[in-house]
Amino acid sequence: MENTIKKYEELRKKIKAYRFANFLASWDSTTEAPKGCFENRSVQIGVLSEELYKLQTGDEMTTAVEELYKNRNQLDEVLKHEIIVAKEAIEKLKKVPVNEYVEFMSLLSKSEHIWAQAKNKSDFQMFQPILEKIIEFEKKYIKYIEKDDLKGYDVLLDEFEKGYTTKEYDQFFDALKRDLVPFVKNIVTKKLQFNQDFTKQIFPKEQQKEFVQYLADVLCFNKYYGIIKESEHPFTTNFGTTDVRFTVHYYEDMFISSIFSGIHELGHALYEQQINPELDQTFSGGGGSMALHESQSRFYENIIGRSYEFWKVHYPQLKKTFKRELRGISLDDFYKYINQSEASLIRTEADELTYPIHIMIRYDIERAIFNDKIEIKDLPKVWNEKIKEYLGIDVPDDKNGVLQDVHWAVGSFGYFPTYALGSAYAVQIYNRMNKKFNVLRSLKAKDTKKINDWLKENLHKHGKTKYPKELFKMVAKENFNPQYYIDYLIDKYSKLYNI
Ligand code: ZN
Repeated sequence: MENTIKKYEELRKKIKAYRFANFLASWDSTTEAPKGCFENRSVQIGVLSEELYKLQTGDEMTTAVEELYKNRNQLDEVLKHEIIVAKEAIEKLKKVPVNEYVEFMSLLSKSEHIWAQAKNKSDFQMFQPILEKIIEFEKKYIKYIEKDDLKGYDVLLDEFEKGYTTKEYDQFFDALKRDLVPFVKNIVTKKLQFNQDFTKQIFPKEQQKEFVQYLADVLCFNKYYGIIKESEHPFTTNFGTTDVRFTVHYYEDMFISSIFSGIHELGHALYEQQINPELDQTFSGGGGSMALHESQSRFYENIIGRSYEFWKVHYPQLKKTFKRELRGISLDDFYKYINQSEASLIRTEADELTYPIHIMIRYDIERAIFNDKIEIKDLPKVWNEKIKEYLGIDVPDDKNGVLQDVHWAVGSFGYFPTYALGSAYAVQIYNRMNKKFNVLRSLKAKDTKKINDWLKENLHKHGKTKYPKELFKMVAKENFNPQYYIDYLIDKYSKLYNI
């Protein structure tokens, strides 16, 4: 047993080294690399990925995991959970025939490109044949993995958020449909009154960068163990707690984009920095799940970052950074600007209130796909009808409709719901935090560290040493309940819109 643990730790160390090489390569590809290098580097990345795959799924690893699994009750809690998770992954992998797995991967390597072209031309029919093949594979995959208590679409949902299936999500989205949709329909017909002169101006990139650095300091991002760069689409990546990186994209004609995507990524980054560093050598570091990670980014972006209290303290600095651009613009004007809600077509640009509606629509469609209730050729029609039904607007073309997201093109079905779940988690966690101390008062006192510390103690430090449902219960002290989220949104927007 001691020897098996040693063997497992050796393999884990090796796997982590390969993952580190992949981490650096992919960071470089999205931030620094010259466009011309990609053809050559794909060879090296191919070799690394193949070696990694062999190490992770090879006989040595599976034997070690199986041996440790048998003796799991003698292992410490962290390793025990890690082995249970690894054993599940191996079991799954065994159920899928290797040739089909390879075929699916090769299909996915082409599909993103085809999707991008189809989106560019706004032509769903271009994308339809390959999408049909992807879905066919997903349905076959479901058949291989299915078991008595986990069937159909639930298999996919469970992969992105362990323990969450249509049972939980139906309850969640039904509650949104019942309580939030009528409210949203009312709000989006109204307009907030404020001085809008500044919104059409150019905000120089250099000053935006300066302000994002300021925000990173305000939220206590550790720059000794972290770095901020630029990329086309903002994202966070990390290797353990001592190397946490995120990116921002600066639009000179849309300066709040860098502010809020910056705060969003800072939320992800803080989560990673605050994990127990002892987990760095294991596979149990990193955020607890997709939705838990998104709960942290949304918490900082929306609950903290779009609050009046936050800007009451930091708006003077923003005005100082953009002296000319924000001349004569009051805190109230700015607050209304960053919180106005409107019916819009694009999910990633949607505001805090309408965002979950976009996810609800995708969930409905995915569920219909895997219940064989919809033909793929009808997706644009169904999409447009739902946007009309729930947001009251017309979709002009597929680019602004069914083709807008990359997820389905890369086979990520079951992923979308975690975004909305994360936003709802955030509110429930916020609610719990408020039982311990007044969060907005801490913001006014410029004490964001108090908030970070609480999250570290109650959620972050645990990494993924437990399943998401357990982690959530540890921080929220109760099971997930969507009502907190609905009440928060209705309360916030009723006040804003004076209704
Ligand atoms: Zn995010």
